Amino acid sequence: MTDGPTYGFDTLQIHAGARPDPATGARQTPIYQSTAFVFRDADHAAALFNLQEVGYIYSRLTNPTVAVLQERIATLEGGVGAVCCSSGHAAQIMALFPLMSPGKNIVASTRLYGGTVTQFSQTIKRFGWSATFVDFDDLDAVKAAINDDTRAVFCEAIANPGGYITDLDAISAIADEAEIPLIVDNTSATPYLCRPIEHGATLVVHSTTKYLTGNGTVTGGCVVDSGKFDWTANDKFPSLSAPEPAYHGLKFAETFGPLAFTFHGIAIGLRDLGMTMNPQAAHYTLMGIETLSLRMERHVENAQKVAAWLETDPRVDYVTYAGLPSSPYYERVAKICPRGAGGLFTVAIKGGYEACVKLVDNLEIFSHVANLGDTRSLIIHSASTTHRQLSAEQQEAAGAGPNVVRISIGIEEADDLIADLDQALAKATA
Ligand SMILES: *Cc1c(COP(=O)(O)O)cnc(C)c1O
Repeated sequence: MTDGPTYGFDTLQIHAGARPDPATGARQTPIYQSTAFVFRDADHAAALFNLQEVGYIYSRLTNPTVAVLQERIATLEGGVGAVCCSSGHAAQIMALFPLMSPGKNIVASTRLYGGTVTQFSQTIKRFGWSATFVDFDDLDAVKAAINDDTRAVFCEAIANPGGYITDLDAISAIADEAEIPLIVDNTSATPYLCRPIEHGATLVVHSTTKYLTGNGTVTGGCVVDSGKFDWTANDKFPSLSAPEPAYHGLKFAETFGPLAFTFHGIAIGLRDLGMTMNPQAAHYTLMGIETLSLRMERHVENAQKVAAWLETDPRVDYVTYAGLPSSPYYERVAKICPRGAGGLFTVAIKGGYEACVKLVDNLEIFSHVANLGDTRSLIIHSASTTHRQLSAEQQEAAGAGPNVVRISIGIEEADDLIADLDQALAKATA
């Protein structure tokens, strides 16, 4: 199937990017388990290396199975191209790499996946990059944090761990005014619930490890480009607008137009950083995406029921699910993710740290793991695990205080999940 703007999401999640295998007629996308691809002749090889012809050279750069996944995710997000990577964290570095250089900074939300806070507050400093964290509900603070050296604004659509909804339209207007891209991590929402490009995002990043694959089998990541940013409007993005010394002086924006970022991601990013997705991982993720809408509908329906039940329970302090009318983010759900607020939220338990640890240990159906977006329900006590490297202030700002557990609601029977939480809460608060 080729491009079909007339097709609906449920059709595209199965067909976009894929066609019967030209060699064998295989209906399912084959796993092209091959490192290298034979050139027709020396001229063909030269054209491929010059980026004059698109084709397969070596699987660190491109692979036919991975290419189907790239086109599938780009289509579902409404982007022009995508580059898949070995993990969500690799995708974040791949998104920033063409934009940044030593001395440059990003402005990032305080409400992010714990590993992202660590990557941005610690690890990227080794590259000479830095991040300024601000509360993205405070638009004046976001504006004030941007300076001449800022090269991107970064947030999550539905933010970890509390399921908070970011006002992407307001944030993208600020990024536009500063003439810098907005990068949205759409992992927790998926393109079924939220399409950040429609709200002004330049780039969308994913941990495909989570809902896109959907069943906790492989790690992966993806960077989707909207194709809408003009890299030549100012001199802030020389990797894309000026001659690129790492590719014999090629000007990516001039040569590839709206596909400049995607081509740079493959020709420089994957070539030199090597954070490549392997074809097996792409296969598992393609399998997962075929049922994305069905799973997301059930994740949302179950999360809604479980969060509503927890909220009225006397052993619970509060629940952060944005799908509850009590949430300060309730109004934003209709605007940003109209098909629902996702499957992720936090619960504050009376009895604090001790009760949280006991709750986690006494659940039967929920698994205690550092993951989310699985078919099975998952729980984690963020303060003692994923957010452990953060200071107490960072934990509170991220919504991961010691009295809080994060829940990723699966697609089991909601009543079974409620019964399991009920018995474990009884033991935790006895
Ligand atoms: C898991 C996750 C990441 C990191 O992805 P990996 O695949 O684990 O590297 C980034 N952002 C969010 C929102 C995540 O949930």
